[in-house]
Amino acid sequence: MPAAASPARADTRLSVLTGVGPALREKLAARGLSTLQDLWLHLPRSYEDRTAVTPIRLLQPGVAAQVEGRVEAVERGFRYRPMLRVALSDEGRGTLVLRFFHFRAAQVAQFAVGARVRAYGTPRPGQFGLEIVHPSYQVLGGEVALGETLDPVYPAIEGIGPASLRKLVLQALQRLPDEATLELLPQALRRALHLPSLREAILTLHMPPRDADVAALQSGLHPAQRRLALEELLAHQLGLRRQRLALQAEGTRALRGDEKLVAKLKKSLPFALTKAQARVYAQLREDLRQPRPMLRLVQGDVGSGKTVVAAMAALLAVADGRQAALMAPTELLAEQHLNNLRGWLEPLGLRVCWLAGKVTGKARAQALQDVASGAAQVVVGTHALMQEGVDFHDLALAIVDEQHRFGVHQRLALRDKGKGSVPHQLVMTATPIPRTLAMSAYADLDVSAIDELPPGRTPVTTIALAAERRPELVERIRAACAEGRQAYWVCTIIDESEEVVAQAAQSTFEALQAALPGVRVALVHGRMKAAEKQATMRAFKQGEVGLLVATTVIEVGVDVPNASLMVIENAERLGLAQLHQLRGRVGRGSAASSCVLLYQSPLSAMARERLDTLRQTNDGFAIAEKDLQLRGPGELLGTRQTGLAAFRMADLTRDADLLPQVHALADRLLAEAPQLADRIVDRWIGGAARFAAA
Ligand code: ADP
Ligand code: MG
Repeated sequence: MPAAASPARADTRLSVLTGVGPALREKLAARGLSTLQDLWLHLPRSYEDRTAVTPIRLLQPGVAAQVEGRVEAVERGFRYRPMLRVALSDEGRGTLVLRFFHFRAAQVAQFAVGARVRAYGTPRPGQFGLEIVHPSYQVLGGEVALGETLDPVYPAIEGIGPASLRKLVLQALQRLPDEATLELLPQALRRALHLPSLREAILTLHMPPRDADVAALQSGLHPAQRRLALEELLAHQLGLRRQRLALQAEGTRALRGDEKLVAKLKKSLPFALTKAQARVYAQLREDLRQPRPMLRLVQGDVGSGKTVVAAMAALLAVADGRQAALMAPTELLAEQHLNNLRGWLEPLGLRVCWLAGKVTGKARAQALQDVASGAAQVVVGTHALMQEGVDFHDLALAIVDEQHRFGVHQRLALRDKGKGSVPHQLVMTATPIPRTLAMSAYADLDVSAIDELPPGRTPVTTIALAAERRPELVERIRAACAEGRQAYWVCTIIDESEEVVAQAAQSTFEALQAALPGVRVALVHGRMKAAEKQATMRAFKQGEVGLLVATTVIEVGVDVPNASLMVIENAERLGLAQLHQLRGRVGRGSAASSCVLLYQSPLSAMARERLDTLRQTNDGFAIAEKDLQLRGPGELLGTRQTGLAAFRMADLTRDADLLPQVHALADRLLAEAPQLADRIVDRWIGGAARFAAA
């Protein structure tokens, strides 16, 4: 424990620390570190154990350790690039090579034969036995004491060296208040979970004692880490819930729930609603009749029929003489919604208006005018809907599709389009999220699920096929098309620019066109003009095109019931959720459908598991659970969308078992101690600003 300086308030600025001038302050602020508390919670990402010396003979490849020995030999080479090799041996007669590729002349001079060196790093097998590349090291003059505590390794901060950062953290820790001041969690809870106080946890993590459980620390399972994770999860939960309460406290105008238009729509549909659709619609209607804004997430697997439910909700707004907006993350998807809604609503005498980035000039001016005058009752578009200059006459309902593509902030931006009264919000997602995770990620939303597919769908048969067997597939496509069926061929390249993907799709398109003379083959990719894409999609939808070669632009929403075969190239490189989404494009009609996952062998164990999962199940929830297990929630939810990626300590997969405690505690705090709840949110999330001002 550092000698106590006078304890300080958590929000004390970092300029109180010795050596923090304007330049340093700015660098810290760039990383979100501006108060003492920020530094207390700037946690190490790993630890190095320099409290002991390991005999060289006992080193294990891949296991970091500290060694000490005398320099036996030094070799400087320039074979392919400059290189310095220092052979070190210790009393135990072990020898280890330290290897450097970047070094200065002064460094070379230090390594005189016979000099004593203490080095730390991860040994790997090298040309002459074990070696450590670029170890951290120290040439020892006299006796130098070993470390008292494990050395924390902090996430790097641009322009600040690790040693300076360490000093700053230690200075900040000297001002850590006593337990009574710092602690916000009820003691009974900590006891029940066997977790330390916050003060103890912070000190342990910055200065773990020599006998600390290093393995637990490295894996984030040390009680001190769990303690912080608990509080951080709680803070996020409280933040979202508080935001929801604030929004609902504002109130809004209730809709009457007049269903005359809904009844007309239902009558005109060529199908009856599923039970699940009817149930979710009834929930929405109930929400909309309240004088506080609806905040509801509707989950439904691909093809479950979310769009028509959204359309019915929109009609409740329109029946009251007000407006509804539907926002989708991509132009292609938005266009498809536009076509659906126009097909359903225009026969009822309504005007559905289109607003996307590519709508410009006169068309845009007209659209803006229709939105502002209320001539357009329903507005469909991309995030262009949220832009400035888009003024609604009277927006009652904001619908957002495929939420995982939008940030919470973007979603919130639509609510400000309500002028005078907050619009009701409906979020739709096809990414099924396991329940506990949903409770954390969407604590600001009520969640309902359309957990049933329309009848008459035959499950998609999925097979995995090595890429070498591509010719067989081409044959299969020819046969399907000859029977009047249609197919998708999805080209994927990961981590490349849209341009490269487009080129790959182009050459696949050309190859398939050449291989399938009797079939009309078409191409869509993200670099094409919207009008061109739309024309191609229309031709495919109308059955004029037999095989559609596409990039993942077709991932969301595209709906062509006659398409019954899908080929996905490089399937081993895609995540489960994405593959499931893609596959959801087939199996929409009554014909038996199949999905072929083409892969490049050899498959990694992880990739094999993903492909196996898809072969075994069509159930989006089961797939999401597996995905969560394989990849973690950040990936599953999309990194940006919830602010979840900003966790400092918590990890929703690793710490999932804490979530029930977190949810229960959040309920209690909001009911019994709202000020305390505010303090917890402020500590971790930096005040109301980050959420509420979005
Ligand atoms: P998603 O939930 O993936 O957005 P969509 O709303 O695009 O699904 O619906 C998929 C297809 O199913 C559309 O062609 C839609 O018209 C149709 N559909 C929706 N509800 C039903 C139903 N109850 N019965 C039959 N077909 C339906
Ligand atoms: Mg959809």
